[in-house]
Amino acid sequence: MTTQRLRGFGATIFAEMTQLAARHEAVNLGQGFPDWDGPPGMLQAACDAIRAGINQYPPGRGFSGLREAICEDRRRRYGIVHDPETEAVVTTGATEAISAAMLGLVEPGSEVILVEPYYDAYAAAVALAGARRVSVSLVPEGNGKGFRLDLDPLRAAVTTRTAMIVINSPHNPTGTVFTADELLGVVTLAAERDLLVLADEVYERLVFDAAHVPLASLPGAQGRVVTVSSAAKTFNVTGWKVGWALAAPPLADAVLAAKQFLTFASGAPFQVAVEHALRHEQAWVEALREALRGKRDRIATALVEAGLDPFECEGTYFVCARAGASAEEFCRDLPARRGVAAIPVTAFTDRPGPWHDVVRFAFCKTDPVLDEGISRLASAPLVESLGPGGRVS
Ligand SMILES: *Cc1c(COP(=O)(O)O)cnc(C)c1O
Repeated sequence: MTTQRLRGFGATIFAEMTQLAARHEAVNLGQGFPDWDGPPGMLQAACDAIRAGINQYPPGRGFSGLREAICEDRRRRYGIVHDPETEAVVTTGATEAISAAMLGLVEPGSEVILVEPYYDAYAAAVALAGARRVSVSLVPEGNGKGFRLDLDPLRAAVTTRTAMIVINSPHNPTGTVFTADELLGVVTLAAERDLLVLADEVYERLVFDAAHVPLASLPGAQGRVVTVSSAAKTFNVTGWKVGWALAAPPLADAVLAAKQFLTFASGAPFQVAVEHALRHEQAWVEALREALRGKRDRIATALVEAGLDPFECEGTYFVCARAGASAEEFCRDLPARRGVAAIPVTAFTDRPGPWHDVVRFAFCKTDPVLDEGISRLASAPLVESLGPGGRVS
C-alpha cells in the first residue's frame, strides 16, 4: 500500500538487530541513543513548564526565548550571528528540520547529493520531496585510520539539476570530523554552482580531538546554508524531539513553510526546558563530552583486543571497525556469538562495496552497560585472521 516514493524505506537492519539483541540478551551497541538522562535542572524545567500550564500550541517558529538562546549560544561559541526573529526555526527534532528543508527548498525532479555512508533520514527526506538522491562516498585516509571528504567526486556529481548538498559533521556513522579545508571546498563548490547546503551538525558538541567547524562560518556560505542541530545529542534527550534550523531569512521562511504543515509547532514544555539547558547547562555538556571521550577510548581498546581494526573516531557516539568479513553476517552472528549487537555500515550506503566489512559500535552507554559489552567483545579474538591491531590487506 505504501506509495512508490516511500517504498524501500520500510523495515531496516536496525529493527532486525534490535530484535536479535533482545533474543540473545545482548548488550545493544547498535542503537545510537544514550541510556542515561540529561541535566537534572533541564528535566526539572520541563516538569515545571508542564505544571505551569505551558501545554498549548507554541508559535510555529518556536518560543522566542528558545530562539534567542539558540542564537546566543551559536554567537558565543562560534561568533556566528543569526537574527532569532527571522533566521531560526524550532522543529520537531533535527529530523523535521531536515525534511522541512528538503520539502521547502528542493523542487521535485531535482537532485540532492548525499555523502555516504549517510544518516538514513536523508534518503527518505529526498524521496518525500520527490527529488533524486545522488551519493558520493567518503574515502579512507592515507594512513587507513580514518575517512576524508574527497572533493573531486563531489564536484563530478554536480549537474544542472543539483539543488542541494547534505553535509553531516561530526559524521554519523564514521565519527569523522571534517576539516575547515574540506568544508570550505564544499562551500566554494556550492557558491560556484549556486547550490544550497544542508549542514547537519547535531553532534557539534561531541568532538574529542578535532575542533568542530560550522559550515556556515566559512566564506561563501552566506545565504546558501541551512544549519540543523538539536537538543537530542547535546543534552541526552533523543525522545524530546526539539531541534532547529538556522539560515538566512528566505531559507528559514521556506523551512517554516513546510514545517507549519508537517507539525505546525513543536513540544511547548520541552522548548522551555531546552532554553534553560542552553543558558545554564554548558558545564554538563562539557562533562558529557569528557565522559564520551573516555568511553570511546575504552571501546576502541576493546575492539583492538578482539582483533578488529577500529577507525579513528574524532566525534559523535560511534566508532567503526573492519570486521575482516561481511559486516552484515558479522552483525547477524555477533549477538549469539558474543552477546553484543552492532550495525553494519552497509545499511547507510547505496553502494556498499567499500563498506562491506565495516561495523558501527555505539558507545553512548552507561559504564556498567558499556563495560559489560567491552568485556564480552574483548574476551577472545573475534577475527582470528587479523590478530590484535592487524589488518587484512
Ligand atoms: C540523531 C540524528 C539526527 C536526528 O536528531 P533528532 O533531533 O532526534 O531528530 C539527525 N542527524 C543525525 C546525523 C543524527 O545522528
